[in-house]
Amino acid sequence: MQSNQAKPFSAYQLREDFPALAQSVNGVPLVYLDSAATSQKPRSVIQSICRYYENDNANVHRGVHALSERATAAYENARGRAAKFFGAEAQEIVFTRGATEGVNLLANTLKKRVLGEGKTILLTEMEHHSNIVPWQMVAQETGAVIRYIPVVPETGMLDEDEAKRLFAGGVAIFSCTHISNTLGTVNPVQSLCAWAREAGAVSIIDAAQSAGHRKVDVREIGCDFLVCSGHKMCGPMGVGVLYGEGSLLQDLPPWQGGGEMISRVTYEGSTWNKAPHKFEAGTPNVEGAIGLHAAMDYLDAVGREEIRLHDALLVREAMGVLSSFPGVRIFGPVDESGEHAGVVSFALPGIHAHDVVTLADSHGIALRGGHHCNQPLMKKLGVPATARASFYFYNTEEDVEALRCSVEKIMRMFSKL
Ligand code: PLP
Repeated sequence: MQSNQAKPFSAYQLREDFPALAQSVNGVPLVYLDSAATSQKPRSVIQSICRYYENDNANVHRGVHALSERATAAYENARGRAAKFFGAEAQEIVFTRGATEGVNLLANTLKKRVLGEGKTILLTEMEHHSNIVPWQMVAQETGAVIRYIPVVPETGMLDEDEAKRLFAGGVAIFSCTHISNTLGTVNPVQSLCAWAREAGAVSIIDAAQSAGHRKVDVREIGCDFLVCSGHKMCGPMGVGVLYGEGSLLQDLPPWQGGGEMISRVTYEGSTWNKAPHKFEAGTPNVEGAIGLHAAMDYLDAVGREEIRLHDALLVREAMGVLSSFPGVRIFGPVDESGEHAGVVSFALPGIHAHDVVTLADSHGIALRGGHHCNQPLMKKLGVPATARASFYFYNTEEDVEALRCSVEKIMRMFSKL
């Protein structure tokens, strides 16, 4: 798969491209089921970063020497690649540190355009803290109020009737995750953005869990803004993408000040560069953008629809396996009425999630346990924490079987079987 040419999908072959997956942990071959936290990186991404540092390393945009021109071209090519990946134009793509920084940028710039006393910010009850806390901070500053579209605990899906009612009440900003990192719920982002548009609201989609797992096209979704993190889609850490619809992005004020984001500076004042550079103050993460470029090439060569289908297959198997144990609770959509992405959260009866993941680690399995940066959602679900297995295209049915064996051992250890 290193050549980035489409080949028949084989998770077993694709795994070979990921050096980190070839290791043993605690004396057993690693089973990595924590891709929702961060994905592993294919060799082509790692090599693209090495190549950049070995050949082209220079600061971008400011030099006329050969290395600076090569680095600038590579950085701007990565922007063009991201635009193509999301169905946008290059000038609509801002590189950020990740989804968190993307939301913070939007909260701190949109507040000057559309927020004020009594204005509504509409979120959902399944948002990651990074799509709650920045809004709470700007709500405090501006007097705006935050409302939440409820999650139906039994199904893990949004209450759509309540969503329509909330939109009808007037909304300034609507911000929503595409896929829940805890429930695996796939939200109907197209409809939600259409309702936001009808309500005159600015719409933002958090694609942190979806961008690397399925086709995400900003025009098809119909969102005004979208954010994601490179490290969850086979790219490096510390880089992410913010998409902003052309004229809306151009209209936003800058967030951070410094080099590159200006057009002209005098001792008395400054004028701003155009978007996207207006939002990229200081030396950017060039290696990150280059690594992300390689990651997007890799994902497209694997096939984003193939990834979605493979995630769904493994998660269905994992849910079947987990539900065969007595008293196990599975969160999120469990039947055909709602699509369940490659994330499955579960609770074993009377066993704390931290014990589950610690014991699973001793079996060589990387799971995640805790509140998954969804503390209010945990409260709503009535649990302090869940264990979470998250799947990607390099996981196999053998990984699901390893999970089953591990859960069985844990259940026996706690005398639950
Ligand atoms: N949004 C969702 C749905 C996430 O799952 C995460 C990370 O887990 C984030 C946002 C934040 O991403 P980052 O920490 O890479 O900025």
